[in-house]
Amino acid sequence: MTIDFDLPDNLRNVRDMAHWFAKEHIRPVAIEADRTGRIPGALLAQMKQLGISGGAVYREKGAGGIKGAGKNPEKFINRLAILGVEELSWGDPSVLLSAAGPGLGGPPVRFMGTPAQKERFFSVFDSDELRWGAYALTEPAAGSDVAGIQTTCRKEGDEWVINGVKCYITNGARAAWVVCFATLDPKMGRGGHRAFVVEQGRPGFRLGRVEKKMGLRASETAELVFEDCRVPADNLLGGDEHYARKEGFMGAMKTFDSTRPMVASMAVGIARAALEETEAFYRDNYMTARPIPRYRRLATRLAAMRRQLSTARLMCWRAAWLADHDIANAKEAAMCKAYAPRAAQDIATGCLQVLGAHGVADGSLVEKCFRDLKVYDIFEGTGQIQRIVISKRIIEGLKRF
Ligand SMILES: Cc1cc2nc3c(=O)[nH]c(=O)nc-3n(C[C@H](O)[C@H](O)[C@H](O)COP(=O)(O)OP(=O)(O)OC[C@H]3O[C@@H](n4cnc5c(N)ncnc54)[C@H](O)[C@@H]3O)c2cc1C
Repeated sequence: MTIDFDLPDNLRNVRDMAHWFAKEHIRPVAIEADRTGRIPGALLAQMKQLGISGGAVYREKGAGGIKGAGKNPEKFINRLAILGVEELSWGDPSVLLSAAGPGLGGPPVRFMGTPAQKERFFSVFDSDELRWGAYALTEPAAGSDVAGIQTTCRKEGDEWVINGVKCYITNGARAAWVVCFATLDPKMGRGGHRAFVVEQGRPGFRLGRVEKKMGLRASETAELVFEDCRVPADNLLGGDEHYARKEGFMGAMKTFDSTRPMVASMAVGIARAALEETEAFYRDNYMTARPIPRYRRLATRLAAMRRQLSTARLMCWRAAWLADHDIANAKEAAMCKAYAPRAAQDIATGCLQVLGAHGVADGSLVEKCFRDLKVYDIFEGTGQIQRIVISKRIIEGLKRF
């Protein structure tokens, strides 16, 4: 199969609409939202109205999709998502992560849920109210080592009982429901994993602390506590059948093939924002206001940063394109996630260097981008973990020859 670098009209429309919205409505509030840790509710309501959802096109067929996506958006779902998130993150990544919708909770319900569960949990977002979903895998002693989760689940009659603590959960405090991963017994490893949808208000489910962070300050990150939390048997994603086929852990992993290119594209959008700001400063100051010859050398740094940005973007596009064509993309998804956030951090550091003191002044967009970017090399699997995934896939490929 060939890759076509031209964007079809529907993808171009979505990208242009997302860029227009980011420029006109998101960017103007970005610095203040970072300072206060709050995003105006009216902005989130406007995003919902336009179909800009945390979770992009999360239904199997069209409903809840992005306006302008055309017919059968599921055929473009990964490309729609990465194009949209690059633009919206260019506006502000905290605003994007706070968009109402299922968020990171969407992909596991989509991949693992039964048709009835998809209808039940996604229809929550048909309401006019702002509602969020969340994805709770990380624990205090299990971040990268996802197979080592300690949160337990046991079946009692028609209910499951969950005990444990989840941490750093995006939109965790306000989520209408959260996909919680637990284990029948930590000694069983991956085979013991089960995924549940736990709704706000279930007995034994409560909020722990809300984190203060270096970057993405306006995006909510919370600790969630499950103390003999009871959910109906129906809330087990995929039902018992799914786990009899030993697909519990694989469901969590499959989610990453879709979400890693998205997260990597967010890093591309933030780095692009920093670079554009820096290029404009270079033009206005080093080319016109004070064109001192030594500043010309900085242009080579700008050129290197543009190269890194293009490479990162193309890697994301490739991973998303493969996913849209149902071609295994775990290696490519890990490659773009390993590369783009690191490249983006290099770019932000380079931008600060080019800007000098101007870059670190209070209210500087580039300074905010620099802080926001660090997290992208941590969540959805750290850079080191991506490199392990890539090397495993390469070794597996070598064994076949
Ligand atoms: C802002 C934010 C939002 C988040 N949102 C969510 C969310 O919505 N849902 C969710 O479930 N989680 C979320 N997380 C958690 C995130 O996924 C974890 O932080 C991440 O998986 C890393 O886990 P850890 O922090 O425990 O670090 P650790 O796993 O303890 O890693 C610490 C360091 O050791 C390295 N390391 C670990 N294992 C290896 C190895 N085998 N080889 C080499 N190096 C290794 C890591 O790369 C890292 O540098 C979020 C985190 C942040 C910061």
